[in-house]
Amino acid sequence: MKRRNFIALVGTSIASAPLWANGITSNLPAPKAIDSAFPELPYAFNALEPAIDAKTMEIHYTKHHKAYFTNFMAAIKDTPAAELDMKTLFAGISKQSMAVRNHGGGFYNHSLFWENLSPAKTSPSSAVAAAIDKSFGSMDKFKEEFSTAAKKHFGSGWAWLVAGNDGNLFISDTLNQDNPLMDVVEKKGTPLLCIDVWEHAYYLNYQNRRAEYVDSFWTVVNWDTVNKRYENR
Ligand code: MN
Repeated sequence: MKRRNFIALVGTSIASAPLWANGITSNLPAPKAIDSAFPELPYAFNALEPAIDAKTMEIHYTKHHKAYFTNFMAAIKDTPAAELDMKTLFAGISKQSMAVRNHGGGFYNHSLFWENLSPAKTSPSSAVAAAIDKSFGSMDKFKEEFSTAAKKHFGSGWAWLVAGNDGNLFISDTLNQDNPLMDVVEKKGTPLLCIDVWEHAYYLNYQNRRAEYVDSFWTVVNWDTVNKRYENR
């Protein structure tokens, strides 16, 4: 579908904003509906400095993320899977090609990641704070556990805060571009917060010091997004 038709279908008030501006990324439409609309970054490349430097952001967004998007659209174009919303696609990802799995995950995970970062000072809602206390004991313990998962993940991948189907929150890490919505991962649920721990996410500024990157991440977490994802889980 062309972008103008998509806009006509959903209304200009939604389509004129970046896809992730309203915390709606977890409900991204079917690939067929987004094929000409690579979403805009919701802030400037230098907005997250010093935690994430402008050059890393520029390359990460315009090269890495764009390539995942382009390759995903090429892999899924004119297949029945292009009709599926992203959640449904991931729930059956084991039946898709590795190109759809890797590039679809890459497109989607980065969309989530940009959306859960912000230069603005934000804080967890009372509901999210209560859920974190219940599942991890305290905010500090949650941050420690999440950070450890991100620091210790071996190789390329992601660390996640996830809402499980039982109502509890948990932390997981996934390989490559897999995510907790995929039927191929062990621990499944709705992603609330993620961090990219591929070397391309931090190496220009931090080189091998992934731990420093992970510790800095907490200064740019967009809790407003986490709160919305928790409400809509
Ligand atoms: Mn990345």
